[in-house]
Amino acid sequence: MAYAYDDQNIFAKILRGEIPNNTVYESAHSLAFHDIQPQAPVHVLVIPKGPYVTYDHFAAEASDAEIADYTRAIGEVCRLVEVAPGNDGGGYRLISNTGEAGVQEVPHLHMHVLGGRVLGRMLR
Ligand code: ADP
Repeated sequence: MAYAYDDQNIFAKILRGEIPNNTVYESAHSLAFHDIQPQAPVHVLVIPKGPYVTYDHFAAEASDAEIADYTRAIGEVCRLVEVAPGNDGGGYRLISNTGEAGVQEVPHLHMHVLGGRVLGRMLR
């Protein structure tokens, strides 16, 4: 399947520096910033810098270096914003809303990192 990337999406504009962001972490292939409408005390978005729409797109077409960088970036962010277990009240949820059924608003892969409160059960 061919993946079409819209380079006018808001995260593409953030990556080009056309829109400001509140950066938490940046690495060679990844950027993390605070969500503009936080749904929890900690709500950070982690995105790859490359033009990937969804996780399946990223996993199919990104290089091993990009995949390693992104995977490590998500973990690094959890440590930096102190939601990793071991911190007071630690624990977090990773979510990547994908496509129509997943109600994805921004067509650039992003992982929501949510924490800072008890988040409640999902999938019940
Ligand atoms: P949903 O809005 O259903 O969560 P997504 O999973 O695509 O859909 O999430 C997009 C996220 O991007 C939302 O949480 C939204 O608040 C956030 N967002 C949109 N614009 C910005 C921005 N300029 N800076 C930071 N976060 C943003």
